Amino acid sequence: MSLPDYADKLFVNGEWVSPASVLPLGNPSTGEQIGNIAAGQAAEIDAAVDAARQAQGGAWGGLNAVERGRILTAIGQAVSSRVDTLAELEALDVGKPLQQARADALALARYLEFYGGSVDKLHGQTIPYLDDYTVYTLREPHGVSGHIIPWNYPMQIIGRSIVAALAAGNATVLKPAEEACLTALEFARIATDAGLPAGALNVVPGSGEHAGAALAAHPGVDHLSFTGSTEIGAAVQAAAAGNTVPVTLELGGKSPQLVFDDADLEAALPLLVNAGIQNAGQTCSAGSRILVQRGIYDTLVDSLSARFAALRVGPAIDDLDVGPLISARQQEIVRGFIDRGRDSGLEVAAEGLLAESAPQGGHYVVPTLFAGVPAEHELAQQEIFGPVVVVIPFATEEEALAIANGTGYGLVAGVWTRDGARQMRLAKAIRAGQVFINNYGAGGGVELPFGGVGKSGHGREKGFEALYSFTALKTVAALHARGSN
Ligand code: NDP
Repeated sequence: MSLPDYADKLFVNGEWVSPASVLPLGNPSTGEQIGNIAAGQAAEIDAAVDAARQAQGGAWGGLNAVERGRILTAIGQAVSSRVDTLAELEALDVGKPLQQARADALALARYLEFYGGSVDKLHGQTIPYLDDYTVYTLREPHGVSGHIIPWNYPMQIIGRSIVAALAAGNATVLKPAEEACLTALEFARIATDAGLPAGALNVVPGSGEHAGAALAAHPGVDHLSFTGSTEIGAAVQAAAAGNTVPVTLELGGKSPQLVFDDADLEAALPLLVNAGIQNAGQTCSAGSRILVQRGIYDTLVDSLSARFAALRVGPAIDDLDVGPLISARQQEIVRGFIDRGRDSGLEVAAEGLLAESAPQGGHYVVPTLFAGVPAEHELAQQEIFGPVVVVIPFATEEEALAIANGTGYGLVAGVWTRDGARQMRLAKAIRAGQVFINNYGAGGGVELPFGGVGKSGHGREKGFEALYSFTALKTVAALHARGSN
C-alpha cells in the first residue's frame, strides 16, 4: 500500500497543516524508511490547544448529548466501512499482522458505537438533603483534554480515550507515538468527513521530547490521558501537576496467570500462549508470567513448549502468528532481556520460528518461553514488551498470591482453577485493575473498565467509568425559602 498524502502532515482545526520539520517513518517488517511524518513542536501544540478551546466553547461543546452521540455513531459506521484501509495502514506502520490490525479497527468502531449510544445516558443525581434544599449533580466536560498514546494499539487507545473524551463533551489534542501515527491521522480524516466539527480532534505527531512534553505541560489543557511507560507517565504527571490538571495514567504491567492443578488445561492453553505473544508481546496487559502449580508443572511446560515451537513469525502482510517489533531499539531491548536470561543460566523451554519470507532488516524476535524462572529474576519482574513469557512454579495458593502481587505492577491477572472458593478469594486478594477467572481478557470488551494500580497507573478508561473520568462533577444546592413562591 502507498502512503496517504497526509502522512507527513498535522491535523489542526480541521485542516491538514505542513510542519516545519519531519521525522523518518519506518516499516517494522522490512526496517526500511518509507517516508516521513510531521515533527510537531510546541508552536503546533499551541495552535492545536487553541483550536480545541474554540471547538469546546462552540461547535462541539455546544452540542447536546444526543447530537454528540449521533455524530460519534456516524463516525463508527464510517470506521466500520474503512476497516480494511485502517488495517493495512496499521500493518504497514506498526508491523501488526493484518488480522490483528483488523481486530483493532473493529474495536475502534465498537468504541464509537458504545460511546455514541451511552453519552445521553450519563446522568447526574438528586441528593436528599435538608428540607429547604434541592440538591443535584451535573457531569460536565473538563474542557480541553490532551492524549499522549504509544505505538502498540493506536486505534484501540484512540477508542477508549479520545472517543470517550469527545462523548463527554471535551475537545481533544492527540499526540500519537512517532512510530505509529498513520491510523490516528486517517481517523481524523474519517471523523471529519462523518461530521465531527473542526477543532474537536486535533492530531499533532512528533516526538515525546518536543510535542509530548509541550502538551503535558500546556496551561490550556484541562485533563490529560497518558498511555505508555511508567517512567514517562510519572514525568507527564509531574508536568500536569504544574497546572493542577487531573491525569489518567495507563501504564505497563507484568501480569500473572495463575494455573492450579485442577485447571481445565485444554481451555487454558491457547489463552495462556496468546496472552503473552499477541502483538509480539507489546501489550500492556500481556499475560507474561505464567505461574504453575507443581502437580501439573511438567505437563503444562511440555504443552506450552509445543505451542511456542509452532508459532510463526514474519512480515505483517503474511499475517502469521507474530509480526516484527516496532523498532530496532525495541528489538535490541528485548534481545537484551533474552540474552541476559540465557547468560544467567535460565532454561529456554521453546522458541518460535522465523519465516523465510521475513526480510533481513525487519525487527523480528522469535517468541521465547523460559521455564523454571525464579520470581525475583528480572525476566519475572520487568515489563519486557516483547514475545517473552516466563513460567514460574509454585506449591500453594499463598505462594502463588505472593508471587502474583510481587512486582509493583497491578494491571490484570488470570486465575485458572475449578475451585469456586479459590476463585473468589484470589479475585479479591490479587492487586490488579482487572481479574479474569478461567479466561484472559474476556475478549477485550469495550464495556469493561480498565486501568491499573501501583506502577500500572491510576484512573479508569473503557466502559461507563471513562465517561466519569472525562467529566467533572458539579454539585448544585438550591435553597428555597419555605412557603415562598
Ligand atoms: P514511552 O512511555 O516513552 O512512550 C509513550 C508516549 O509518550 C509516546 O507517544 C511518546 O512519544 C510519549 N513521550 C515520550 N517522552 C515524553 C515526554 N517527556 N513527555 C510527554 N510524552 C512523552 O514508551 P516508549 O515508546 O519509549 O517505550 C518504552 C517502554 O515503555 C517499552 O519498552 C514498554 O516497556 C513501555 N511501554 C508500555 C506501554 C503500555 O501500553 N503499557 C506502551 C508503550 C511503551 P514518542 O514515542 O513519539 O517519543
